[in-house]
Amino acid sequence: METVGHSRAVNALKRGLKEGRPSHAYLIAGPAHVGKMTLARDLARMVNCASADPPCAECRQCGRISQGLHADVRVVGPGYGGDEAARSRPSIGIDDVRALEREANLKPFEGRSRVFIIEAAERLTPEAANALLKTLEEPPEQVALILLASEPSVLPLTVVSRCRQIELRPLPPEQVAEALRSRGGADPSRVEETARLSGGRLGWALRALEEPDMVDGRSERVEGVREVMSGTLEKRFAYAGGLAARFPNDQDSVAQELELWRSWLRDVLLVKEGREDLAVSLSMMDALRSTASTLSSGRIVGALHAVGEALDMLRLNVNPRLALEQLMLRLPRP
Ligand SMILES: [Zn+2]
Repeated sequence: METVGHSRAVNALKRGLKEGRPSHAYLIAGPAHVGKMTLARDLARMVNCASADPPCAECRQCGRISQGLHADVRVVGPGYGGDEAARSRPSIGIDDVRALEREANLKPFEGRSRVFIIEAAERLTPEAANALLKTLEEPPEQVALILLASEPSVLPLTVVSRCRQIELRPLPPEQVAEALRSRGGADPSRVEETARLSGGRLGWALRALEEPDMVDGRSERVEGVREVMSGTLEKRFAYAGGLAARFPNDQDSVAQELELWRSWLRDVLLVKEGREDLAVSLSMMDALRSTASTLSSGRIVGALHAVGEALDMLRLNVNPRLALEQLMLRLPRP
């Protein structure tokens, strides 16, 4: 298995296969980068592996799937049924599902089972989801469909109810750290901080080790948040105005910025309460301690509430400038 952790999901899948009752349709749900694709590929190896205890990771089938070369294991996304240009489409359309169906009706080319992994299944258009129902209901023999979704609630119930559902939860940070250490190469304090920042998503952590900017860039942005917090009201309002101006075109980045506030304030509270061991911004421990020393726990909790409420207001389409300025007024000054 290439999957790290998620033992409940893994054991359930293995049991199903061992007892000769594999499902033909799976829905693997869980946050982004938590390990959905890795588990889907493990499942593809399990149903195709030639050894007695699949997946063995050594047979030709397992090897081909690991290398992404196996002709019967396909990842389906926008433009699957079309040309290169169609791949930049935001949604998985009916042509893509038709292409999948055509292939599903062919005999496996080199393995025992054809496996279709539908990445980000919430991107299926309603027509495409509808077209997929027939295949989900009566899949051809030797076919497994694996839908991946980070927001399964968006999927039509008709689709969800035809799949065997597997939910992946974030891993404990120690397990992420352990997995990172076992791959070697990275500096131990870096590994520790990356694991804590990952929120239990190993895929994110692995990428962050390869792209140090994901962690360093965050530290810089947290530094910006700290400056706003200790700045004058004028400075705070200028910051709120900047975010509000960005909001109409880029809601996600504004939400991420507020999540950063939340993460920072949570760390301040943890340090205040003597739980430095749980804080995520390890490289900023000095700044955390100094902020924590000037604020009461009550005020930190109040600030956390204020950020949460600002996020709620933005989701409810309250005027963004109003929501953000209110937040600025409610934040304590260290
Ligand atoms: Zn194998």
